[in-house]
This record gives sequence, C-alpha cells and structure tokens, in this order.
Amino acid sequence: MRYISTRGHMLPKEFSAVVLSGLASDGGLTVPESYPKISKSKLEGWRNLSYPDLAFQIISNFVDDIPEADLRRIINQTYTGDAFHDKEITPIKTLESGIHILSLSNGPTLAFKDIAMQFLGNLFEYVLEKTGKKLNILGATSGDTGSSAEYAMKGKNGIRVFMLSPHGKMTGFQTAQMFSLQDPNIFNISIRGVFDNCQDIVKIISNDAEFKKKYHIGTVNSINWARIVAQIVYYFKGYFAATLSNDQQVSFAVPSGNFGNIFAGHIAFMMGLPIKKLILATNENDVLHEFFSTGVYRPRTAKETKHTSSPSMDISKASNFERFIFDMADRDAGRIRELWKEVDRNKPFNISNTLLWDRIRQSHITSGTSNHKERIRIIREVYKKYGELIDPHTADGLKVGFDCRERDIPLICLETALPAKFSESIKEAIGSEPVRPVGYHNLENLPQRFVEMGVDSTEVKSFISLNT
Ligand SMILES: *Cc1c(COP(=O)(O)O)cnc(C)c1O
Repeated sequence: MRYISTRGHMLPKEFSAVVLSGLASDGGLTVPESYPKISKSKLEGWRNLSYPDLAFQIISNFVDDIPEADLRRIINQTYTGDAFHDKEITPIKTLESGIHILSLSNGPTLAFKDIAMQFLGNLFEYVLEKTGKKLNILGATSGDTGSSAEYAMKGKNGIRVFMLSPHGKMTGFQTAQMFSLQDPNIFNISIRGVFDNCQDIVKIISNDAEFKKKYHIGTVNSINWARIVAQIVYYFKGYFAATLSNDQQVSFAVPSGNFGNIFAGHIAFMMGLPIKKLILATNENDVLHEFFSTGVYRPRTAKETKHTSSPSMDISKASNFERFIFDMADRDAGRIRELWKEVDRNKPFNISNTLLWDRIRQSHITSGTSNHKERIRIIREVYKKYGELIDPHTADGLKVGFDCRERDIPLICLETALPAKFSESIKEAIGSEPVRPVGYHNLENLPQRFVEMGVDSTEVKSFISLNT
C-alpha cells in the first residue's frame, strides 16, 4: 500500500515515511492509494479475534514496509490489558437492547486518543531505531492531546516531547496528569498566555525550516495517518460485540472535532463493514453539522470558536475533513486544490448546487448538534435510567445518536472520555463528583516538573536547543 496526497502533487510514499511527516509536501493530506476490501468470509473469520489479533489483521493492510513479525510485536506490545485496564481493550456496555456504548477511554489518560497514540509511540520508536533518526515532538495543548502524547512517548528511545500549555488554564487534573511525569524525555513548557499563544509559537517554530531540520522537529497532531489507521480497529470490534451475525447493520454515533475519529469509521465502511450510518455529533461549534445540512463549509476564526463544556470538540476547522471530501469527489485532487484554496485563506466554500453535494447528502454520514443544556440533561437521564455515568463528549454523541437513529438499527455510541476528567459538568448533572478510577486519586499531590515561559518563541527555541 502506498500513499498519495489529496492535492495530487506528491510522489507516492511508503507507510513509514508518511507516519513521520505531517502534511504532504504539496500541502495536502496523505491517504492510501486505495482501500482494502474485506470479503464476507474474511469478515466472518475476524468475528472472534482478540483485540490485538484483529488490530493486526486490519492495520497490516495499510503497512507494507514493516515486516509482519515486527508489526505484530508492536501491536501486541501496545494493546495490553495492563495499559487499557481491560483485556477486551474496548469493551461494550449495553444500555438497553439496541443501544450500546463502546468504551474507548480506559487507557492511561482516560480518553480515546490513547488508543491511537499508544500505538504511535511504539511505532515511532521502532521506525526511528531502524533508520537511526531522532525526533523532537513539538506541540501545543489545552489538555487532552498533549497528555495522551506524553503518556505514549515517555521513556521511548530517540524521542523527546516539548509540550506547550497555557499557564494556569488547564484543569487541576489535566495539569497534574501532564506535569507529574518525571521521565527525562518529556518537557512541559507552561506559557504565560492562552492556548492560541501556544499554538502560534508552535507555528512560528515549525515555519523555521532551518531550525526544524537541525533539531528534527515533528508533530503528532490529528492528521497523523497512523492515528487514523489505529482507530479503524474499534469500529470492527464494536460491530462484532453488538451483533450476532455479519448480515446485521449498525450505526455509530461519533462525538466529533477534527473529523479524525469519524474518518476512521468512514474507512471501515469503505472496507465493507456493514455500517448503516455514521452519525456525526458536534457541540456548539457546529461547523461540521452546518456543512452536512447545507453544503456550505465555513471554517471559523479562533475568536468565533466557543469554549464549551465538551472542550475537546471545540474546533474552528476540521483538519481531517479534506480526506473525506477527497473520497466523495472521486479522488479528484484538482477539485480539492480548488476548494481548499478558499479554506487555507479561512474562506468558506459552497458546494450545495453540485453533484458532489448530492452524493454527500445521500452518503453514510448524517449529523446533528448538541449544547450545554442538552449534554447535562443526557448525562442525568442516562445516569438515572441506566446507572451509567458518561462524560460530556459522549453525551453529545448520544444526544445526536438518539435524534438521528433509525428504530431497527442498533446504535453504538463511541465513548471518547471518562467522566472523571470533567467533574464540574458531572456535578451539575447529578449533584455529586464522579469517582476516579483506581490509581488516579492522589494525582494532584504528586511532585510536578515543568518550566514556565512568556509568550516568546525565541525562548522556547533556546530551551529546545539546550535540551537536545
Ligand atoms: C479529540 C476528542 C474528540 C474529537 O475527536 P476528533 O477525532 O477530533 O473528531 C472528541 N472527544 C474527546 C474526549 C476528544 O479528546
């Protein structure tokens, strides 16, 4: 399997090269040349596989420059009952007949990003070791992605992480989770500013080609192809857990931000998994729901982006969306270049009078939106009715899932975080704080390791050069 760019101007590359680079050289996103089709008999054979065995069957379709035995070892090393606190890795919870929650948040940082990031950590270490290269990951976080990356990369050979976060702006839990890491390859840089300042510093440094090359600067953002691939696996796992035979269809409700999670579901669909609908749920930042209901894609500015009680879905632009439009436009790179000429200038595009829009409207994706009041209501109702406590993001997914589902099609809602991370909203919904999983009780009292800096990219640069 080789990889091409959605903008059509990159020579095909192999998997290992693609996972170590961010954007394609022509500014597009990398996608596989085609999607593998899974035959009925193969799908039948996958039904009872363990998570790591299923992961190997799926991921190996997308990788042809890593020997099978090595890939198997990387996967087995990643998906352990120890790391994910459950030997099923992504167990399913049934609320009532035909309504399920797929638990994706039992990894070290209690959010679904761990599933892909833990794989990426082991994969990076392997690829770097083989090529003798080093990687210094530079990122900005408002909480979730940064901690997931740090827990995946800590202690890995050849990798350092420099993570910028806004000083005093994360929750006590998030801060403690990141800053309590004592591993010498993890550097927390607390910036006296807001998240956008952190992101700007990362952009400035990433645009300095000379510095970037000299210090082997890379990223682990949501467009990383290996992250998408790893996420395909749990759509299959969840499907098998919710059905008795492969003649049945299911729908998935997906709390969405950068379109990474749901794009993995789109690939599962393209591979032949019997999915009826992928139900995309947004919060108050409804740029994607607006697109799927009007055909107008209108990226927002940082100022227009609202701070909500499902913060990991607070996006202004959905970075993986380009990959989906590329598929729906019959992989016409010229069309993507044309549309994204607007997006890259923060301008909207309108395809409502086109064949492309007709096709998208009739596709396997449907959408809806949720807000603070509704997510609090859903958390309360699900707790009262089923005795299950869900987090605010999952609540958005379930709210929209209930709105859009078809009566006779089982619904699987993806659980993207655990309630323990969002005690304020949980308290508002049910009147008491969520219980933390074992091992997380004393988190805020652990010693913290971080450096504090002003909004100054020069200072960050010299810190990186002193510590590499
Ligand atoms: C990242 C994240 C999302 C959004 O996922 P995308 O892949 O960006 O669409 C939803 N919920 C939680 C808790 C997250 O951390």
